[in-house]
Amino acid sequence: MDGNLFVCYLLNRRIRFNKSMKINSSPIQEISSSLLQAKDIRLLLKRDDLLHSKISGNKWRKLKFNLLKFKELDVEKILTFGGAFSNHIEATAAAGKAYNFPTVGIIRGEKIEPLNLTLTFAESCGMRLKFISRTEYREKNKPDFLEKLKKEFGDFYALPEGGSNALAIKGCREIITETEEQLEILPDYFCVCCGTGGTMAGMIAELEGRAKVLGFSALKGDFLTQEVVQLLQQSESPLYENWQINTDYHCGGYAKWKPELIEFINDFKRKNKIPLDPIYTGKMLCGIYDLIEKKYFEKGTTILAVHTGGLQGIAGFNARFGQLIDV
Ligand SMILES: *Cc1c(COP(=O)(O)O)cnc(C)c1O
Repeated sequence: MDGNLFVCYLLNRRIRFNKSMKINSSPIQEISSSLLQAKDIRLLLKRDDLLHSKISGNKWRKLKFNLLKFKELDVEKILTFGGAFSNHIEATAAAGKAYNFPTVGIIRGEKIEPLNLTLTFAESCGMRLKFISRTEYREKNKPDFLEKLKKEFGDFYALPEGGSNALAIKGCREIITETEEQLEILPDYFCVCCGTGGTMAGMIAELEGRAKVLGFSALKGDFLTQEVVQLLQQSESPLYENWQINTDYHCGGYAKWKPELIEFINDFKRKNKIPLDPIYTGKMLCGIYDLIEKKYFEKGTTILAVHTGGLQGIAGFNARFGQLIDV
């Protein structure tokens, strides 16, 4: 059964289905290449980009338990925050349309018209957009600010930027439980790309110290380790020591790129028929290949990398920078 129907059921309790059925797991696909063969590495890709027909990748994992909670609370709408190209804004808007509830997006920075593709899509799903200055945006988690928003929009269920809260982390744990159901062995490494670190925190929590988790930061700076620690604490998980965040492959910062990255993404798609986005998954896989090249992983290592989706961002990226990424 499609994840779509599952949540329809849980939200409406109308659709009948066999209770033992769960959301379809995302498929795991083995990648082959001469590099992998030469270095004796197995690379598996968990295709969370295929998890749900409307809401892509890790954003669906993060929304799932939040949508259930939202329904329980009986508030009317969901309000959330993000940048103008945010995958989370896109996913929340799509969820609102798919499951028929109102959404509000508080967008960082001034309104630029015409709206970009992400925001045009969000509006077409019925999301109300409010643009606030970057200074104001920094205040967004303060109670006063939320109160002001409640005066403007009425009562709402608030999701943080990037969707990362304790329930999101619970959803991301399922990346691991699913993988364990699907594979007979536990991979040596789990790789994932990081924005807020929420997806990684969920994986770390569920692994309980087993295997190794390697995060690839999409942002410049070293603050993500601390963020992951905080997210683990928030979800009452021990901190564990089997994980690390690599900051070598962000190409200069969030949404920055280099020709090598574009070349890698296009080449990967040609060879494997799998699209990667330039903000997250492309950088992670570029990093994994480079680390394999540099013999970071021992011979015989099995790596499972999570394709967290984000493919909606390609069109906007191409619109901004020229048709760099083959579609
Ligand atoms: C949002 C996003 C991430 C970052 O996830 P976090 O849980 O915030 O670290 C990674 N990949 C894609 C494709 C995303 O859209």
